[in-house]
Amino acid sequence: MMYHVWQPLLANVAVIAVFISFWTSIQSWLERAAPRKVDAVFGSLCGGTGLAVMTMPFEIVPGVFFDLRSVVIILAAFFAGPVGGFIAGAMTGAFRIYMGGVGTIPGLVSIAIGVALGIFMNWQRRNTVNCFRDVLDVAFAAAGLSLMTMLTLPTALHGAIFEHVALPAGTLIFTSLILAGSAIVHENRRRDIARANEIYGAVMDALPDCLNAKDSQGRFLVANPATARLMGATDRDALIGKSDSDFYDAITASGFRKDEDRIIRWGVAETLEQRFVQNNGEVAWLSTLKVPFPSSDGREVGIITHNRDITRHKQLEINLAETQARLSDALAHMADGLVMFDGDAKLVYCNDRFRQMFSLPDTTMLAGTTLTAILRKAVEHFNIVLPDGMTKAEWMALELDKVARLESTQFQLEDGRWFQNRHAAVRDGAWLTVSCDITEGKRSERALMDLNARLEVLARTDGLTGLSNRKTFDDKLYAEFARSRRHGSKLGLMLIDVDRFKAFNDIYGHPEGDTCLKSVADCLKIVAKRPSDIAARYGGEEFVAIFPEVDEAGMQLIADQFQQSIRDLKRAHVGSEKGIATVSTGVAIMGADADLRGPADFLRLADEALYRAKGAGRDCVRIAETPLLISDTDEASHRAS
Ligand code: GH3
Ligand code: MG
Ligand code: MG
Repeated sequence: MMYHVWQPLLANVAVIAVFISFWTSIQSWLERAAPRKVDAVFGSLCGGTGLAVMTMPFEIVPGVFFDLRSVVIILAAFFAGPVGGFIAGAMTGAFRIYMGGVGTIPGLVSIAIGVALGIFMNWQRRNTVNCFRDVLDVAFAAAGLSLMTMLTLPTALHGAIFEHVALPAGTLIFTSLILAGSAIVHENRRRDIARANEIYGAVMDALPDCLNAKDSQGRFLVANPATARLMGATDRDALIGKSDSDFYDAITASGFRKDEDRIIRWGVAETLEQRFVQNNGEVAWLSTLKVPFPSSDGREVGIITHNRDITRHKQLEINLAETQARLSDALAHMADGLVMFDGDAKLVYCNDRFRQMFSLPDTTMLAGTTLTAILRKAVEHFNIVLPDGMTKAEWMALELDKVARLESTQFQLEDGRWFQNRHAAVRDGAWLTVSCDITEGKRSERALMDLNARLEVLARTDGLTGLSNRKTFDDKLYAEFARSRRHGSKLGLMLIDVDRFKAFNDIYGHPEGDTCLKSVADCLKIVAKRPSDIAARYGGEEFVAIFPEVDEAGMQLIADQFQQSIRDLKRAHVGSEKGIATVSTGVAIMGADADLRGPADFLRLADEALYRAKGAGRDCVRIAETPLLISDTDEASHRAS
């Protein structure tokens, strides 16, 4: 009896084993198939296997058959989810109906329960079954289930079933599920690992960084193409078994080796920056992570290296450091003082030149000092020449205000030195102040201003007599004429000509003539004594003078005084009727009612008066008749008469 039970059951197991081996062999064909398709194929295979085992049933009692179909049905649903479960269930179910017999209904029920159990356990594990623990669970569940389905058989059979069938059937269901499930899990795992390896391989190949592993002797075990490129090897296989000394010069290779030895000895990962000379002679930089790793037997320790080419980055870093050094050199040695403040008006930087300019010790002008504190120190310790009437506090407030507006300022110290501060905004409210010693410039500026003032005087003065020149006179006459018109005040004009001066020159010589002109000018200066009076040389031996706010009597007096002062010189002039140097004077007076079109008209009047003085025998004064505006009343009385 025992023999009868075991033989067909073992045949069932053999069929399942064939199924597993077939499934494993078609894995590579299914490698790239969609998961649903794989599930369908798996379900179909399980279904097929189910049919095979169903053809080798063990007959418990006439008409009641038992086989391992539940194993393959559960496998189908457990590993391939609803898709696999339904296919296997449908195939075996259909076959069971075809076979017919008393056990058809219980058979179909056990198939349905198997599918449901597998799907449930698959769902519980969210479709992924890849651990042996899961297989154990499903094997227990399936064995228990098959025993329970036997209980659906008539009660009369229970005794025989438990006596002869339950143990071998349960054991076989359990073991065959364990065997088949483990094989599939193993296969799944192998496939997952192969896929992961494929991904790792692709990542390693595509990685622009170098990635490699070396043994404890520094020989390459594996390397990616980037490593081969860096080392100048033809490909990564050419690196295997070689070490750095095969590719780099002895010094570089031993340097690298020393780093690796240390890392292996201490067993601690390190990140290094490695500088080396490439085969083409160019200097290169690597940022390298080296991680020690134990070999599988734990005795040997190798090293995994990941490095990135940071030559460009390093070059930029070096260039930046050089530029910074050069810049700070330039700042330190520039001719002007330079200070920088941040947005909170706190000192950021002060160059040496600034300290030298103000003889400051190194301890002052420390970073972080506020502008206010610096200015306060400055007014306390330096003798700043404050503008007239300004207190130190006011000066400070003004400076702060100007800095805030980035307006340049100048100040003088009592030692005579002048400084200028110019400001320029940088960013985030920060600014630079450039201090320069402008003492020389100030000196030149003052000299230039003095010179300008002198030139201005010269340009407006007659060189011989020191009186105003013709140009100045013309301007002044124009201005005084307009002013007197505006205010309705009187304006006197005196035009003077030296008598017989041509003869004077002829007799006494030109230089003596000049001396004579100078003494005439001096006399004119004396009479034109009020600040508003203007005396000028009109040209040659002619002079002119303007007297604002004066009346006819006053002008007469001034002219007479002047004539007399010339006579009083008693300068001999044998060429003149009087025997001494004399002048003739024409006077014009303009009142509010004068009918004059402009200064030229006024001058013409004086000139005509002078002409009359000449005609009257010279050495005398003539006053012009000023034409008057005819008012309405005058006109009316004129008509009446
Ligand atoms: P009159 O009494 O009519 O004015 O006779 P006059 O000789 O003064 O007449 P005129 O205006 O013709 O002569 C002016 C002279 O003044 C001619 C010129 O030699 C002389 N003269 C003009 N400018 C200067 C000067 O700057 N220096 C000297 N020494 N002589 C001058
Ligand atoms: Mg003349
Ligand atoms: Mg003359």
